[in-house]
Amino acid sequence: MRSKFTLGRAGIVVGSLLCAVAPPWSAARAPITAAASSVEYWPGADYDPSIPSVRRVLGFEVGAEMARADQVSRYFEALTAAAPQRMRTFEYGESWEGRKLIYGVISSERNIARLEEIKSAMAKLADPRRLGPGESAAIIQSMPAVVWLSHSVHGNEPGTTDAALLTAYHLLASRGDPRVAKMLEETVIVVLPLQNPDGRERFINNNRAARGLEPDPSPLSAERDEPWPGGRMNHYVFDMNRDWFTQTQPEMRAHVGLMLEWMPVVVADIHEMGANQTFFFPPEADPLNPHLTSKQLSNVELIARNNAAWFDKVGLRYFNREIFDGFFPGYGSGWPNYQGASAMVYEQGSSRGLVARRSDGSLLHFSDTVKSQFIASLSAVEVVANNRSRFLTDFANYRATSVAEGQREPVKAYVIPEAPDADMAARLAVTLARNGIEVRRAEAAFAACGRRFEAGSYVVSAAQPTKRLIRTLLDEKTEMKAGFVKRQEERVSKGLPDEIYDVTAWSLPLMFNVPAVACNNDTIVKGMLVARDWQPSGTVIGEASSVGYLVPWGSTASARFLTAALRAGLPVKSSNKEFTLGGVRYPAGSLFVDGARTSENLASRVLELARQSGARVTAVSDSWVTDGPSLGSPNMLHMPLPRVALVWDEPTERYSAGHARFVLERQFGYPVTLIRARRVSAANLDGFDVIVVPGEGGSYAATFGKRGADNLKNWVQRGGVLIGLGSGTRYLAEKGVELLPLKLENALEPEAAKDSGAKAGASAKPDSAKSDSAKADDADSRVDAKELVTEADLQKAERPLKAPPRPVAGILARADVEDEHWLTAGVASRLNVLVTGNDIYAPVRFNDADTVARFAAPDQVLASGVLWEENRRQLAFKPFVVSKSTGRGVVIGFTADPNFRAHMAGLNLIFINAIFRGAAVTYDANTQ
Ligand SMILES: [Zn+2]
Repeated sequence: MRSKFTLGRAGIVVGSLLCAVAPPWSAARAPITAAASSVEYWPGADYDPSIPSVRRVLGFEVGAEMARADQVSRYFEALTAAAPQRMRTFEYGESWEGRKLIYGVISSERNIARLEEIKSAMAKLADPRRLGPGESAAIIQSMPAVVWLSHSVHGNEPGTTDAALLTAYHLLASRGDPRVAKMLEETVIVVLPLQNPDGRERFINNNRAARGLEPDPSPLSAERDEPWPGGRMNHYVFDMNRDWFTQTQPEMRAHVGLMLEWMPVVVADIHEMGANQTFFFPPEADPLNPHLTSKQLSNVELIARNNAAWFDKVGLRYFNREIFDGFFPGYGSGWPNYQGASAMVYEQGSSRGLVARRSDGSLLHFSDTVKSQFIASLSAVEVVANNRSRFLTDFANYRATSVAEGQREPVKAYVIPEAPDADMAARLAVTLARNGIEVRRAEAAFAACGRRFEAGSYVVSAAQPTKRLIRTLLDEKTEMKAGFVKRQEERVSKGLPDEIYDVTAWSLPLMFNVPAVACNNDTIVKGMLVARDWQPSGTVIGEASSVGYLVPWGSTASARFLTAALRAGLPVKSSNKEFTLGGVRYPAGSLFVDGARTSENLASRVLELARQSGARVTAVSDSWVTDGPSLGSPNMLHMPLPRVALVWDEPTERYSAGHARFVLERQFGYPVTLIRARRVSAANLDGFDVIVVPGEGGSYAATFGKRGADNLKNWVQRGGVLIGLGSGTRYLAEKGVELLPLKLENALEPEAAKDSGAKAGASAKPDSAKSDSAKADDADSRVDAKELVTEADLQKAERPLKAPPRPVAGILARADVEDEHWLTAGVASRLNVLVTGNDIYAPVRFNDADTVARFAAPDQVLASGVLWEENRRQLAFKPFVVSKSTGRGVVIGFTADPNFRAHMAGLNLIFINAIFRGAAVTYDANTQ
């Protein structure tokens, strides 16, 4: 018998309860449920009853409820148990909160029986350098194509996970459908039902806790209006859909590792967006990354056209091209392209709960959102099944042409020198290895591109199958199409927003602040290939010593040593100035672990800390310093164990708060107390030495009030270290708070308008416009006539008088560091800063505060990305880091967030200095 897989009144329990208790006056309104009255997921489907449905395993119809993380695992295991010849379920990792990350592999019996063979065939196909003659053709002829379906990287996009359950069920249970049979024969479908279980659980917990009599479609209902920080992000409040190439989060690192093991030819990253939207599939909007190939774009379009055909058939609406650009390589729909897959994003309007009321009054049911994502997934698999050899051939060609281009193009290799920062160079090398890029560590010194490099330097040949990824990650700039950039300049000059979806700069050497030297000849060196999990171990040079140990400051390894040593209770000092001992120059900030003040097993404890942190420690047997402060000098600051608090929760900017916490806790192993912002006004803050104020999402002024501002001020006066990050600094500078003497600037006047104004004989003084408007208030309501000669004159005339600068999508800007300040000890003289938005501050007079880092000169300031001409001129020389001593404490403002996505490794040290040297400076002042 053909049974249609349909859904009746889904929330049966809720629905019938409602019927029993609803008062008569509400009878006119139909009860609201998770599902439209009947959903036919796949026209004419006939299902094998031996394959368990979601209802049978989890107790609700698919689409009637949001499956929890453990239910997702349970359902995949039940499917696997029912059809072990056609489905396997594996774990691939664990979330921060300890939830299992699982995936299912679904295919024909024949394919499931040879999964290892398929994986090794794909690994061969992926590396043309190791393929024998005819091997590629044989693989393409005999192997299925791997299709990758990634769901719910954002935990508050609920339908996508339940669609994964339905997709898996349909592929296994469907009977008598030749399309499904062909999908299983020709493809291996890898389904990751839930990439972000921690975020999803947070989302569902709130939704379930707030539910009442029936699901509430109002956007204001507590079940749909998520409390801070929302379920989109993972535990550390990261948007993991930006973390693909940096892989700071374990969930993403595991996902990327898995993908490199399987080498899919098609990847769909499945998302949800606002409830009023329909469904988005490719083509994606401009701008596109120049390293995408036309084959990839046409493959994605081939799939999208089948998506469209199915959507037409079942009566679903969609759109494409208008949003979601393909420029940034860190999306789930971006990164797989650079491995040779054809990758795309799907976006369904979200019910963000069981039901949503759209602005046109109609209801969007959860089951509707499940259906469209399920149809899109299956229709994508159908295209690959029907074009298996095309997709495999294109994948093989992608990898082969990458190698060929790497051999042919001018840039043939990159060298990452081990000096000046061995730790950061290693971190870059490992990050590249985690991207499936071959990186070799030279075992001896070598010459390349006209230079000499020390042993331990890293070489990345461009002649690799991942050449396009290598270029987009290591080149300083990835070019955005000139026509697109020009159009954006025009838009923003008219006060319209730009059409750029994410940052325009992500060069890893710039973000890590290590050089990567591009060479015009391929460089062959002997040495190990860097493994994805390689961690260079630190060392102690010299014999165990009673004097103590020195750790040169300037690398993040030495900062990890510091945090670990403080937590281990070792007496650590930090030099305010550079010094020379035993012929070695130690930069300012270098650490001294005093052997005279410690127990007898110091040597083994220091060795252990060096190993774990990666620091290079020197044992001191003779304390005679030949230049600079001696080890007993008052310029050797005692480093206390600071108690660090981070302002958390509404109105904190959630990412800024999460990223700061992650950097401190997980990259530097140092615990942080999260204080909810609403507590700041009345809390006794004396239990903390350092308070970090992340960017603000709402208004700190409104939340803290005058009482909160006074509380912070008094605490600083008593010796606290207060650190503002990004827009958190804006609060510290705000009128009425004024903990920092910073003032935000209005936009600069456009150069062109100034010039032409002068030529036309009009005054170019900014005040002229102001006096015009003052005259407008006169009784006759007329203003002086103004001739507009050029477009620039017009722009100037139409421009608001005191507008903020234009927002910037995200660029890397250079900043120069003042040495001789305690905050910049050991910090590189030039930094790269990720600048977004439009906070530009006026220069600060040096008797008001210390500007310890400022943006570089106009011709130097832009390191990478798309920066509006006017902003480039305005940003130059303006403050990046400002410090002001207040009472016994200090206030430090970073005008741009140094912890952005935890990508800005090159800014770690100045942030660590702010906390630990800040605490030391105020401790020292307070104990004098
Ligand atoms: Zn999403």
